[in-house]
Amino acid sequence: MATPLVTDLRLPTHRVLGRDKDRFLNEENPFEAMMSRFDRAAELLDLDPGIYKILRNPEKQIIISIPVQFDNGDVEVFTGFRVLYNTSRGPAKGGIRFDTQVTLEEVKALAAWMTWKCAVVNIPFGGSKGGVICDPLKMSVGELERLTRRYTAGIISLLGPDSDVPAPDVNTNERVMAWVMDTYSMHVRHTVTSVVTGKPVEMGGSLGRREATGRGCMIVAKEALQYLGMPVQGTTVAVQGFGNVGSVAAQMLQREGCTITAIGDRSGGIVNPRGIDVDDAIRYVAEHKTLEGYPKGDAISNEDLLTLEVDVLVPAALENVITSKNAGNIRAKVICEGANGPTTAGADAILDEKGIFVIPDILANAGGVTVSYFEWVQDRGGYFWSEQLVNDRLREIMTRSFRDVLNLSQQHKVNMRTAAYMLAISRVATVHKLRGIYA
Ligand code: NAD
Repeated sequence: MATPLVTDLRLPTHRVLGRDKDRFLNEENPFEAMMSRFDRAAELLDLDPGIYKILRNPEKQIIISIPVQFDNGDVEVFTGFRVLYNTSRGPAKGGIRFDTQVTLEEVKALAAWMTWKCAVVNIPFGGSKGGVICDPLKMSVGELERLTRRYTAGIISLLGPDSDVPAPDVNTNERVMAWVMDTYSMHVRHTVTSVVTGKPVEMGGSLGRREATGRGCMIVAKEALQYLGMPVQGTTVAVQGFGNVGSVAAQMLQREGCTITAIGDRSGGIVNPRGIDVDDAIRYVAEHKTLEGYPKGDAISNEDLLTLEVDVLVPAALENVITSKNAGNIRAKVICEGANGPTTAGADAILDEKGIFVIPDILANAGGVTVSYFEWVQDRGGYFWSEQLVNDRLREIMTRSFRDVLNLSQQHKVNMRTAAYMLAISRVATVHKLRGIYA
């Protein structure tokens, strides 16, 4: 087992540059959660105060009203956001989320995370994110299409293969990306496949994109096990969230020899100490929509799933599930953050004290954006790769990034999250320094 890393987040406040809020004031505000980690890394890097100010602010934030006519003739107006956090290293890259819980603060945080994530894996993108406050599950396909097209038209001045490239996120998928691509193409009057990623393979999507985030989680989890001297065979794993990321991560870890002892989704969790057949559970969800009633295990609450005694915990559902309230009860040895922002800043210090090795979201789930980058490259080149080539190149980038972050964490005696932020911020800051400030 590795030596515990130094990770006290409770810095003397006067040493944090330009701080405008108490970092523990609102533990679950995603932008504050991101900023508190950013501040910590910025301080350790002794970041230039001017660059610090630039990186602490999003470049552009758009709020739009989106009128949509429902199938019954009624009109509803939805609110949509697009935030370009930073584009110094390349076009902005970030998903579109359709959800009732979307806020500008959340979109800002997610756009910043995208900036750091692309820098951690060293792909030539900046970070952005978009969202619409709506409940897509209550809308017809036609209503969803009209919402998507009008939202796309509302943010079209930002979009483009060289300026801002959306992708799917919570409650958006390949079909939604196809509408975004078509709307943009109609506006510019020619087909532009590279304006979005996560498209259907038939229209310029990449092989391997659907599995990429879960595959990336598997690759870095194995790296962590190897570093900690733990065997992969028989390693026990609990996965919260059984959607795109969670189900694929569980499937791939099982194929590598791990025993998946618990899985869960919004309907609750299933535990089986002898191991769950992930392929069988995926088939069950395809038929029944959720894991509710899955017969081959015992029911468990989502809260209890997080505190099971397992080797690896993969939170792959929502933000803020590991907080200062439950971090003390977590018994996993490794946490591999499939979701964005599953751990609050308040929980970080507690996990460190317990010696839990956390692979942070901006590294652990970067496989998705990495293969999105491959998709953008393939679209621009008009030449498509085999799935094997996609997977091989993904492995190369995820492995190298894990080792880069680990080396930095050892060098500075900080945890993996702080090291990942340090690596990302230093890469973005270097480009700002080289480019200078346009005036
Ligand atoms: P998804 O919609 O496919 O799946 C989400 C899963 O979480 C579902 O199984 C759902 O039932 C479950 N869930 C929802 N509420 C829950 C709750 N209260 N408790 C337990 N489970 C709950 O979404 P996804 O694409 O798998 O994304 C999951 C997370 O991973 C999000 O944070 C997303 O931003 C992040 N992420 C996704 C990708 C990607 O490529 N899809 C890439 C990077 C990060």
